Amino acid sequence: MVKFPEAEARLLKNIFVCRKCKSKIRAPNIKVILGKISCRKCGHSALKPARKK
Ligand SMILES: [Zn+2]
Repeated sequence: MVKFPEAEARLLKNIFVCRKCKSKIRAPNIKVILGKISCRKCGHSALKPARKK
């Protein structure tokens, strides 16, 4: 339940999910786009933004 769409957008913006092991990673959006973030569990750098269904 989200009361504040802006807050939700902000939260989801900085949360990414590893495509390989599905672990969640919180990192600044810009760093992920620049490829500076990799999964700390498996080292994979393919991340997708967390999305709510
Ligand atoms: Zn991973």
